[in-house]
Amino acid sequence: MSVWAVLAAAGRGERLGRVADSAAGQGPAAPPSQDRPKAFAQLQGRPLLAESLERLEASAWVDSIVVVAPPGWEEPVILLAEELGCGKVVASVAGGESRAASVRIGVGEVPDDAAVILVHDAARPLVSEPVLERLIEALNEGWDGAVPGLALADTVKRVREDAVVETLPRGELRAVQTPQAFVASVLREAVADGDEATDCSGLVEARGGRVTIVEGDPLLLKVTTGDDLAGVESWIRGSEAR
Ligand code: C5P
Repeated sequence: MSVWAVLAAAGRGERLGRVADSAAGQGPAAPPSQDRPKAFAQLQGRPLLAESLERLEASAWVDSIVVVAPPGWEEPVILLAEELGCGKVVASVAGGESRAASVRIGVGEVPDDAAVILVHDAARPLVSEPVLERLIEALNEGWDGAVPGLALADTVKRVREDAVVETLPRGELRAVQTPQAFVASVLREAVADGDEATDCSGLVEARGGRVTIVEGDPLLLKVTTGDDLAGVESWIRGSEAR
C-alpha cells in the first residue's frame, strides 16, 4: 500500500508578522517576515517547514511527499529537502489562493496508483508517528478517512452578532487537526468538486464519505502567531534536553 503525503505549505502567514523574527531570535537585521511566507518563518534557526518535512521523511508510514509551496518558493523547498536528505520529496508545486486550492494542486501530483493520501499542514510542525499510525490503522479498518481530534476543555456557543443563540453539547465536539488520511480515490473526488472548506475531511463528509476520529495530539498545535512559534520552539528545546 503506497502512502503519499501532501504537505500544504503555501500560506502567507500574515498573522505571524515581525514577532516571528524576534521569537526565533533573528534580531533587527533579519528581513521583515512579511517578505517570507509562514513555511519559511524561522524555527530554531531553520524554516518551519523543515520540522514537518523531516518528521514525514522519517515516518515508517509515509512513502512519498508532495510539498505545496508558496508561489515562487518551489525551488527553495527542493533545496531545503535536499539539504535535509528528504529523498521522499518527489515534487514541489506552487500553491493556490486558498488552502483548498493548494490541496487540490498537491493531490493532482499524486500518481493514480497511490492507495492513501495524507494531507498535512506545514503550520503544524510537530507531526508524530503514533498519530500517523492511528490514522493508517483506521483506514485499514475500512474507513474512507480518518482525522485526529481532541476533546474540548471549553464550552462552545454559537453566537449571532452579540447574542448567544445556542450552547453546543461539548461531549460531541472535537477540535480537529492534521494530518488527515484518506483513501486516495475518495479524496481525489472530494477535492475535484472545488468546494471551499477549512479541512479536507469536510469535503469528504459532504459527499457522504465515512470519516472517523482518532486521538489527536496536543503537540500538533497550529502555528499562527509568533507566540505559537515560540511555544513550539521551547517544546523542541525541552525535548532535546531530555
Ligand atoms: O492559513 P492557515 O493557517 O489556515 O493555513 C493552514 C495550512 O494551509 C498552512 O500550512 C498553510 O501553509 C496552508 N495553506 C496553503 N495554501 C494557502 C493557504 C494556506 O497551502 N493558500
